[in-house]
Amino acid sequence: MLAPPGAGKGTQADRLAARYGIEHIATGEMLRAEVAATSDIGREAESYLARGDLVPDELLLDLVARRVLAAVAANGYVLDGFPRTLDQAEAAHQMVANLDGVALQAALHLKVGTDELRSRLRARAASEGRQDDIDGTIEHRLDVFHTQTEPLLEYYRSRGILHVIDGERHPDEVTDEIMALLESLGLT
Ligand code: AMP
Repeated sequence: MLAPPGAGKGTQADRLAARYGIEHIATGEMLRAEVAATSDIGREAESYLARGDLVPDELLLDLVARRVLAAVAANGYVLDGFPRTLDQAEAAHQMVANLDGVALQAALHLKVGTDELRSRLRARAASEGRQDDIDGTIEHRLDVFHTQTEPLLEYYRSRGILHVIDGERHPDEVTDEIMALLESLGLT
């Protein structure tokens, strides 16, 4: 699930996980849990999250790989918020490269205009109180998406697995489109 902050990837990934009985692996959630638990990783990651910067790969890749491998052994997974850089895309590929019959099958880009993202994130700040949903940090996170994550769209497009979904519609319509797409790809 490749999408800027506020596009609805958490909501949609939750629904996919529930519908198909797969793991929802959300790196932002995992990192916030580490921060809340004041673990070593959490203490190191905290300032990156607060600024809206990406945390360094060495703090994150092992955590993600463990979750991915456990999910592979079960029913599969949907990645929400990972990969966010070309290096991470390569790491995501490597995590499962040696496992027979396992591959990243679809990259879903939820596309939402910047003004709509801003207003959704401000609304989320009010409802969820996330520390990184404040104005200056919102702008920085949108910028980080643009500079570091957007190049992944081309990476997956050139591999023939990118699917662009209009994320500005009602969440139920977005879910319907994603599920229809996955079914048409024979992934369900
Ligand atoms: P999210 O909940 O996906 O919006 O992520 C919240 C924050 O967690 C981001 O702004 C980053 O600081 C950090 N984060 C989440 N996923 C990653 C990732 N794949 N790589 C680096 N940092 C991440």
